Amino acid sequence: MKEYTESQELTELKEDIRNWEDWFDVIITECHDCKENKKYYDTLIIKAKDQETKSHPNWFLTRVWLADEKEIEMAEAEELGEVISATQLEISYCPFCGEKLS
Ligand SMILES: [Zn+2]
Repeated sequence: MKEYTESQELTELKEDIRNWEDWFDVIITECHDCKENKKYYDTLIIKAKDQETKSHPNWFLTRVWLADEKEIEMAEAEELGEVISATQLEISYCPFCGEKLS
């Protein structure tokens, strides 16, 4: 099976932490940069609070799926980098290295 190669533009979008704040409507106060996660490049572990309620920050596993050329070709998206889906799960431990997050 051919391995998926992400376009440079999408990689750059995901490297900018402010984009994650926009995608999830949160303010990020901390990031868990996990050395054990070598597989999921569309995933980020963040400590964040809601932009509106400014709630007490919690740890979340977030995963975002951005449109690439393929999705535009298939008319599932109009432009590169468009958010197709965004998932956010509240967590207490890192699912990759097992570290307790606090
Ligand atoms: Zn970890």
